[in-house]
Order: sequence, then C-alpha cells, then structure tokens
Amino acid sequence: MTSESTIESTREIKVETEHERVIFRADPSCGYRAIIAIHSTALGQAVGGTRFWNYATEELALLDALRLSRAMSYKNALAELPLGGGKSVIIGDSLTTSRAEIFRAHGRFVESLAGKFITAEDVGTTPSDMQFVREETCHVAGLPGRSGDPSPMTALGVFRALEAAANHRWKSADLTGRTVALQGCGKTGYSLAGQLHKAGSNLIVSDVDPNRAKRVVNEFGAKAVPPEQIFDTRADIFAPCALGGIINDQTIARLRAEIVVGSANNQLLEDRHGDLLHEKDILLVPDYVSNAGGVINGCQELLEWRPADCLIKVNGIYEKITTILKIAEAEHLPPNRVADRLAMNILSRARPVNL
Ligand code: NAD
Repeated sequence: MTSESTIESTREIKVETEHERVIFRADPSCGYRAIIAIHSTALGQAVGGTRFWNYATEELALLDALRLSRAMSYKNALAELPLGGGKSVIIGDSLTTSRAEIFRAHGRFVESLAGKFITAEDVGTTPSDMQFVREETCHVAGLPGRSGDPSPMTALGVFRALEAAANHRWKSADLTGRTVALQGCGKTGYSLAGQLHKAGSNLIVSDVDPNRAKRVVNEFGAKAVPPEQIFDTRADIFAPCALGGIINDQTIARLRAEIVVGSANNQLLEDRHGDLLHEKDILLVPDYVSNAGGVINGCQELLEWRPADCLIKVNGIYEKITTILKIAEAEHLPPNRVADRLAMNILSRARPVNL
C-alpha cells in the first residue's frame, strides 16, 4: 500500500477476506491517514472504535483493522446485539497536537459511509476526540456525558468470565485466594484489579508505565513485577489487559497459569496459538466474549437501552462463557474455535438488514 497523493483521497482496498468493505483515506493537509474496515453489517450497523496508533507500516495497520473488525462482528453476534462489526485505525503518533484537524478529517471519513459504520473511542483516542468527530458526523458514540467510560463494565464482564472459567476448571467460581497475574493496569486492568481484590484474590501486576502499576500496588495490595516477567509468573490465572498479540510462540512456552482471560482484544497473535494453548491444557477464554461489556454499555447510547438492562447482559457473560467452555470440552476443541464457529453461524443465518 502507498499513499503518495498530496490531496485528500479515498480508495477501496481489495482484501482476500470476508470483509464487506475496507477503505483507506488520507488528508495530507493535517497528516491524516486512516483505514475503516467493515467486516459485517449482517446484524446491523457496523460498530467499532477508532484506534490511533503509530503503526510501523500501513500493512500492519491494515492487518489490525481487519482482525479487530472481525472480532467486533463476532463480539456483537455472540452478545446478541443488533449490531455489525467494524473498526477504524488512524496511523500516526497519538500524542499529536493536531487532534482537532485529525479527528474532524476522521469524522468526514465516517460520514462518507452514510451510517454503515458507527465509531467510538479506543486505544489512543478519548471521548473528547470523539467530540471533533461529532462535528462532522452523527455516527459516533462514546461522547462525554453520554454512556460514559465503558471500561468498568468491560472489567465487570471480564470478572464474570473469570468466575465462569474458574468454575469450569476448578468446580468453584470463588476467586478467594486465587493468584491472578494481570498485565496492564490501565482503565480496564485497574478496574478488574479492584474487583479481584474485593473478591479476595492475590494480584501480581505489570505495566510499562510504573505509575499505573504502583497505583494498583498501593490501592489493592498487588505485587508489581517488570513487564517482561509477567509471562513467567506462577499464577492460577493470567489476565491480559494491555495490547493484543501477546499470546504467541514465545510467550506460550513461558506461561505458568491454568487459565487465560482478560480484557485485551486479539490476545492471540494467530488463531493457531489458541490450539497451542489447548495442547498445553491452558484454558483460554475467547477475548471478544469476555470483553463485550464495553459495547453492551454503549447500547445505552446506540440503542437507548436502560443501564439496568445493560448490567443484566454484562452479568450474562458468565453463562455465555460457561456454554462455550462446555461445548469446547465435549468436542475436544480450543474454546476460541468454538466461539468463532458459533459467531459465524449467527452471522450466516442473519437476514440482511436494510441500512
Ligand atoms: P488503557 O490504555 O487504559 O490500558 C492499557 C494499559 O496497558 C496501559 O496502562 C499501558 O501502559 C499498559 N501496557 C501497554 N503495553 C504493555 C505491556 N507490554 N506490558 C504491560 N502493560 C502494558 O486501555 P484499556 O481501555 O484498559 O484497554 C486495554 C485492552 O482492552 C485493549 O486491548 C483494549 O482494546 C481492550 N478493550 C478495552 C475496552 C474498554 O472498555 N476500555 C473494551 C474492550 C476491549
């Protein structure tokens, strides 16, 4: 992929995947370069955050957009939401000072899709960035003062997933005395750490930002280890709450936990890494099922749901995970393969929605 034009330009990217549309847009006047990937609108408008990341190449940005948008479709399908899956990525340094121009350009890009794609904040973006997007399009959620920060609800869903996995593996959902190695003490990691502390778990945490790890140490009595050491930490559960791709050939050999469940999207570098965990008898909870609390919370804004109904649905993640783990056990399959199959079945049976 190249982006050599000097005027604002938009072009479709041809991909050999099941995605409905993948589009690249550049606005050299403010250094804006972005991709929107719409994986599926079979269940409704494609919903997905905007990630702002300094990708080394446009190919890596494309790969991220493709994988994240597919995960959004599967997440919404398994959460039984009338929403499709998409994702946008902006390529660049998220510490830029040209936020207003960049996010207005992004708003125009989203608007050009005429409601087929609705975005919100994600890694590297904030609710106030979405206000700039809102100046150009109404197809944006996660604005200040609306459904609010989704992270506590995401963390609650992950906590329920953790209980379900514990019950499946150890025949008790009680997390008292269990040791959890938690990677990433940001918005979701911090909130999850608080819930685990309340439940009586022991916490071992890491963050590349020492202040974030320190906060969890001070508030929840966690023990902090250097970022690289978290993979070697002996624990009952490994909870990845930072970035994706951290379950890979190198880390699987080092993991010493029996269960992997966390908030991070796309924890597996490749699908085959789920197979490797399965071979090692490490129970992997599919990330897009456990971290659906955030998008469910967003339904207050997207679908005018009541907060109490969102809460019921987030708590329902426990049952959803239990079902997936039971099928996986009965069929001797890795849970991520089972979740993918169930999600694909829902998408293939969906009657097309008029958007
Ligand atoms: P965040 O940016 O608030 O927190 C991430 C934390 O991870 C930061 O503190 C960062 O310093 C740390 N980190 C980065 N690389 C690390 C490494 N190698 N080792 C240790 N720590 C590292 O983000 P968040 O909102 O908590 O999201 C975390 C993950 O959960 C992301 O993958 C995100 O896509 C996913 N997720 C978040 C939500 C939500 O509601 N916020 C919903 C669904 C999925």
